[in-house]
Amino acid sequence: MTETIELALKTLESQLNQPLETALEACARCGICAEACHYYRAEPKVEHIPAYRSEQLRSVYRYEHDFLSRIFPTWTHAKKLDETTLAKLSEMAYSQCTLCRRCTVNCPLGVDTPLMMRAIRAMATAAGTAPEILVMLADSAIEKGKDPSFFKDMFLDQIRDMEVQMRDIMGDPNTTIPVEKQGAKILYVPLAGAHTILPPAIVFNAAKEDWTLSIFEAANYGVFLADVNRAKQVAKRIVDEANRLGVKEIVIAECGHAYASYRWDVPNWFAGQFDFKVRSLIEVLAEYIRDGKIKVDPTTISAGVTYHDSCNLARNGGLIEEPRYVLSKITTDFREMTPNKAEALCCGGGGGLVALAEYTDRRLAAGKPKADQIKKTGAKIVVAACENCRLQIGDLNEHYQLGVHISALTDLVVRAMRLPKPLPGHEAEHLFEGEKAPVLGD
Ligand code: SF4
Ligand code: SF4
Repeated sequence: MTETIELALKTLESQLNQPLETALEACARCGICAEACHYYRAEPKVEHIPAYRSEQLRSVYRYEHDFLSRIFPTWTHAKKLDETTLAKLSEMAYSQCTLCRRCTVNCPLGVDTPLMMRAIRAMATAAGTAPEILVMLADSAIEKGKDPSFFKDMFLDQIRDMEVQMRDIMGDPNTTIPVEKQGAKILYVPLAGAHTILPPAIVFNAAKEDWTLSIFEAANYGVFLADVNRAKQVAKRIVDEANRLGVKEIVIAECGHAYASYRWDVPNWFAGQFDFKVRSLIEVLAEYIRDGKIKVDPTTISAGVTYHDSCNLARNGGLIEEPRYVLSKITTDFREMTPNKAEALCCGGGGGLVALAEYTDRRLAAGKPKADQIKKTGAKIVVAACENCRLQIGDLNEHYQLGVHISALTDLVVRAMRLPKPLPGHEAEHLFEGEKAPVLGD
């Protein structure tokens, strides 16, 4: 047995716990999960059935754990793991499953296929066959956490420039973007780029919130690698920052996987050091509007608007009504996609797929059901509260010529605040008349 295979099998063994063993044992082979998966809907072939994918891991598991399978592997469809099989498993788990969990909620037995795909991702990561770009992105975030002084001055310069821009937009010279403010109530954790800092900063200032900006980004590529060790190191930067500043709450930018990870995983990883509430920015927007902390014009957007439920926010996070409440206060023509909410179809960009250029064709093909859904609404604006979804829908927009505008929820809220000046990229009124225009917020 090679060292690579040894590492992969060792990782499989270390992953085995009750939920994974249950998933590996329980499948009635009924095939109901097929139609739940956007890959199968886009291209109905056996390799795209979730149960088929799980079966590839099951056959390896059987070989390792079932006495009869070791002696007569062909009888039980068991398979000894070798380099070729590992490469195939790895490619499948990274390019043919976005970990969206739609198959699980539609399976009569609740078989957790994404959990098995995560186990494969972890095996591939340990064995060194995971996509290099994801490893690189996770490792560079870890390095950044070790020595923030390396980038901090440049980051602060960018924030000061943004502050000038914000004052101009709001017509208020007293607004600020506080960084590392000791004792602030909220620590807001953005993504990379001004488009996830400036609009929320405007909202926090308008609501007179006691907040501070994190010097780190919320994205966690260790999660996509199913590498708990790396994911913990990435998350630790923010947990330490929140503890150091003594904040009460962590608010995560519009990002599906980051929200799911800080809401569900990170508090468990850092039990005893994690005494914060975690909310998504979309919950905060809903609160500010409901409580009258920010004023929005309900007639701002009259063009048809639809909302894409990010799998991590809606199905996995329960954030279903909050974005709809916000949209009901700023749009006059809201159109649901079908199906939606917890049953929403994945856009095809999740699970780190948008970062993997080598699988672009596959990603665009798998996004066709979402593109069809969008087209059917006839909406001119598609709102998505997740960066990966926005990138994927932006690509679908181009590939399938949907002719829509894609926007973050916060950007539309800022627009509805009717400030003296528009956000950069919001100047053109034609954005709301259905002409081709850039993705809002990019
Ligand atoms: S995973 Fe669930 S839905 Fe799919 S074949 Fe197995 S039992 Fe049926
Ligand atoms: S988690 Fe989503 S992408 Fe993966 S097999 Fe299930 S339905 Fe398909």
